[in-house]
Amino acid sequence: MLKTDSCGALRRENVGEIVTLAGWVNKRRDMGGLIFIDLRDRFGLTQVVVDASRSQAAFDLAETIRPEYVLQVTGEVVARLKGQENDKLDTGDIEIAVNEIKILNKSKTPPLLIDRDGGEDETLRLKYRYLDLRRERMQRNIVMRHKAIKYIRDFLDQRDFVEIETPILFKSTPEGARDYLVPSRVHPGKFYALPQSPQQLKQLLMVAGYERYFQIARCFRDEDQRADRQPEFTQLDMEISFVERDNILDLIEELMRGMVKEVGYVPLAWEDFPRLSYNDAVEKYGTDRPDLRYDLEIQNISELAGKTSFAVFANNVAAGKPVKALKAPGLGGYSRKQMNELEDFAKKHGAKGLAWIAIDPESEQAKGFITKFFTTEQLAELFDRMEAQPGDLILVVSDEKLVTREVMGALRTEIAERLGYTEKEELAFCWVVDFPLFEEEQTDGHYAPSHHMFTSPKREHIPLLDSDPHAVLSDQYDLVCNGYEVAGGSIRIHERELQNKIMGMIGFSIEEAKEQFGHMLEAFEFGAPPHGGIAPGIDRIMALMAGEPNIREVMAFPKNQNATDVMADAPSAVARKQLDELHIDLAGKGIANS
Ligand code: ASP
Repeated sequence: MLKTDSCGALRRENVGEIVTLAGWVNKRRDMGGLIFIDLRDRFGLTQVVVDASRSQAAFDLAETIRPEYVLQVTGEVVARLKGQENDKLDTGDIEIAVNEIKILNKSKTPPLLIDRDGGEDETLRLKYRYLDLRRERMQRNIVMRHKAIKYIRDFLDQRDFVEIETPILFKSTPEGARDYLVPSRVHPGKFYALPQSPQQLKQLLMVAGYERYFQIARCFRDEDQRADRQPEFTQLDMEISFVERDNILDLIEELMRGMVKEVGYVPLAWEDFPRLSYNDAVEKYGTDRPDLRYDLEIQNISELAGKTSFAVFANNVAAGKPVKALKAPGLGGYSRKQMNELEDFAKKHGAKGLAWIAIDPESEQAKGFITKFFTTEQLAELFDRMEAQPGDLILVVSDEKLVTREVMGALRTEIAERLGYTEKEELAFCWVVDFPLFEEEQTDGHYAPSHHMFTSPKREHIPLLDSDPHAVLSDQYDLVCNGYEVAGGSIRIHERELQNKIMGMIGFSIEEAKEQFGHMLEAFEFGAPPHGGIAPGIDRIMALMAGEPNIREVMAFPKNQNATDVMADAPSAVARKQLDELHIDLAGKGIANS
């Protein structure tokens, strides 16, 4: 090795040793006859002192070095003078009195300041990702991710899971997104699809008798990009045979708890993850991925509001549309302008309007347009229901069920943000269970699976598939943390007949189902065991554990929000020869100069 010790290793006990360190120049300070260099490697920083009276040659060389030069330094470990210790550094009690310096490589002036977060545009960080990755924050995140993956592997290995790799070049496995297609040179006009997840393959591994499978699996989905989406991402993909729902929830809970405590930087809000039904989640929080770091429960006040003299409420309630209310603690003093902002926000999410009642902090009088439609008793009942205090604001929305849900969910998050609740550094995990098998909205007369088409209806609900499909609940479960769905899974269908039936309801003809999923349907005829699984999303979980706002901060080489790798410039045009070999004719578009 070109070094005897790392830049994070040396302590007071090492004083007197002659050592060799190698790393990057984090900072250089010239103090006349002395040059101080902070030398950095993955393990830390060590202060190196070049004293002309100790070595003129080293001093002359040190005068020429710049940040990010790569150095090898040999010298003696000495104790820092009293009062000059740096308690922010592990190596802060010592420094290296340099005998010899070797420049292993020079560096241009980097476009990013490596020794601090420069707050630069993310594009610059992504373009020079290899420099950005040198930073302490990124190294901390990437190493944490490594430790988390190791934790997962050890945990599952101890519980008899087998890690099995599945193909990347495969056939479409729909998870509700578009596939990435790979043209085949040897089969003109045919394509592989990159897996949206290894869903079918892991189920086939259950048919194959592996019983407990996992994989740190790369998944590919060609979706319109949103802030926290990446075209390729990593899941901890798992499947277990002869399993029941609660076995999976318990196992994942134990895994998450242990991993967060052992390698994460953000504490758990609680040890036992609460389990909410889908219905409770959407009723109380307006979403099936609630952020439980704060309460802010949405109340259904339909009964009370329907009895007021406000015609809109009365008519809506009579038509079966709910009236829902949310308390914004302490925001009763909001100005007209702030209320207008909130109303615009509600409208952006689909509401026709936003009603409100504020309780004046001093006079304790209720104000707001709808107040006059409430009797004194009705107001008192409302405040009681909402546990409202003087100074609070109550927001009320009434619309179609799904619109009301969406608007209230969005308002709840907005209010939490305004009140700073979303900054709380803790991980509030919960489970959401008992999802409906199908989405409430139908597209072109067919049912859309609320999870994916392999999810089993609850056994006792199977008869309802014919009589009332929307009432069918499934054995789907999601793990949610701080408003993100961090894992989704289900007990699967393992009988061909039932799978055929669900595919039909989703809109596959028998021929289409055979063509796309024939191998699965056939496998189900050879003794498929009952099985179920789950797939925690590693990137999001890592971001949460590291206290990072977005998943790009825990991925070494992410794409930007346009699905572009700005460092390597991918995707990019290719040579005509490559296209010809693939039998692709782009009609002149996208051909690189060849
Ligand atoms: N394949 C599913 C997904 O990617 C997870 C699962 O059902 O295990 O969401």
